[in-house]
Amino acid sequence: MSLTLLQGSYIIAGLLFILALAGLSKHESAKAGNTYGIIGMGIALVITVLGAVIGIDAVNNASDRPGTGLPALGLILVAVLIGAAIGVWRAKKVEMTGMPELIAMLHSFVGLAAVLVGYNSYLSATGADDKVHLAEVFIGVFIGAVTFTGSIIAYLKLSARMKSAPLMLPAHNYVNLGAIVAFLGLTVWFVLAPSIWLLIVMTVIALALGLHLVASIGGGDMPVVVSMLNSYSGWAAAAAGFMLNNDLLIITGALVGSSGAYLSYIMCTAMNRSFISVIAGGFGSDGAITGETKDYGEHREITAEGAAELLEDAKSVIITPGYGMAVAQAQYPVAELTTKLRAKGVHVRFGIHPVAGRLPGHMNVLLAEAKVPYDIVLEMDEINDDFDKTDVVLVIGANDTVNPAALDDPSSPIAGMPVLKVWDARNVIVFKRSMNAGYAGVQNPLFFKDNAQMLFGDAKVRVEDIIQALSRS
Ligand code: NDP
Repeated sequence: MSLTLLQGSYIIAGLLFILALAGLSKHESAKAGNTYGIIGMGIALVITVLGAVIGIDAVNNASDRPGTGLPALGLILVAVLIGAAIGVWRAKKVEMTGMPELIAMLHSFVGLAAVLVGYNSYLSATGADDKVHLAEVFIGVFIGAVTFTGSIIAYLKLSARMKSAPLMLPAHNYVNLGAIVAFLGLTVWFVLAPSIWLLIVMTVIALALGLHLVASIGGGDMPVVVSMLNSYSGWAAAAAGFMLNNDLLIITGALVGSSGAYLSYIMCTAMNRSFISVIAGGFGSDGAITGETKDYGEHREITAEGAAELLEDAKSVIITPGYGMAVAQAQYPVAELTTKLRAKGVHVRFGIHPVAGRLPGHMNVLLAEAKVPYDIVLEMDEINDDFDKTDVVLVIGANDTVNPAALDDPSSPIAGMPVLKVWDARNVIVFKRSMNAGYAGVQNPLFFKDNAQMLFGDAKVRVEDIIQALSRS
């Protein structure tokens, strides 16, 4: 294998990653985008391993570097096989509802990898006076360590192993600021007088900072944290690319880092949150939000038969799905109900909140899986003014994303977050199993409104009951 082949393959893999991102931006091209990404990553893996084994250094334009040889290739293949087997096993086993925490865990691996590459790079470096390399190592380990512990806390919060309420230490903003200042000071010190102890001290600070940053963020803001950690993991990979002198890793990391940062920005805009405040771990928040339990009066209940009657008489219906639809796997009966109602001439559309479910695009993926036509699936901004012209809204397992307290109650933890204004419709039917709060742990006054009725039970079973009732009539 020649140096030209290696460099050419890196360029092709880089282009495939860009095509992958472009493809993933639309439903219709998402599958093709995924395929481009897989091919690009396949090429990158094979060429990088072969380059190392044979001894080609693309960065330094040299093909005379001593290769690691076949024994190393054997070791790498064993590691790849073990990793791939665990990855395939986990990916097959994971439920759609478990994807967010799996992704958070995978981000933590990228962070840990950057830390290990940094230590390895420092300990095996020959030129200890290469100041640029020293700075790369220090910054790379910092980003990696923050990503590592931040992702572990995100994993714990998303899997409900840890409370989603924000940790509000006294002067928490100063704790974060102090850690950043310490990092900057230590970086200068390390570059001027490198020592493993400085690296260790900074790593401990960065690990604590990652932990504190994510612990300080409340449940309602977790979507931004997930995309932000995605971005951090990209920058951690790019930093590892600098340390390893690997152009492709730098390109890939920068693509993930910048697209993740942009996604975080879009989500912050959608949720009316300050980007700076969220990435700085709730910076500017005084922790005064309470979301106390209030007495909103009595709620009303409806049966599946009653819901079917309302739907029989409806001309327009909007379905707003949420996390509960994913838990119940109700998307298939929901798609069937949609087909049935449309066949009767009812105007059915879906209203998707940007943070419904537990992943960006979670609801869109489920509805696409159940073959709901794309053109009736609308974003919140496209549909929010239409609720007052709608006969029936079916809230299927959504809670925080349809909570009027976000608009009416400044003391609510989700205050300011735009929500689907389902209560403007003539009738609202809420599918859930109990009166429990949603992910942000906030009571929902929607359930007590005069035009809202609760249809208790598993969402899948209840939608199937409605389909049966409609078939009988
Ligand atoms: P919520 O998480 O607020 O509420 C889901 C509701 O579904 C619960 O109230 C639950 O009530 C109900 N439910 C659960 N299982 C079932 C079932 N089998 N059948 C019927 N109902 C069920 O959902 P939303 O989608 O409205 O809001 C998403 C929340 O998650 C927001 O706070 C968002 O910020 C956060 N988040 C979003 C992320 C993203 O990227 N989209 C990432 C991380 C967090 P009950 O138990 O009574 O059945």
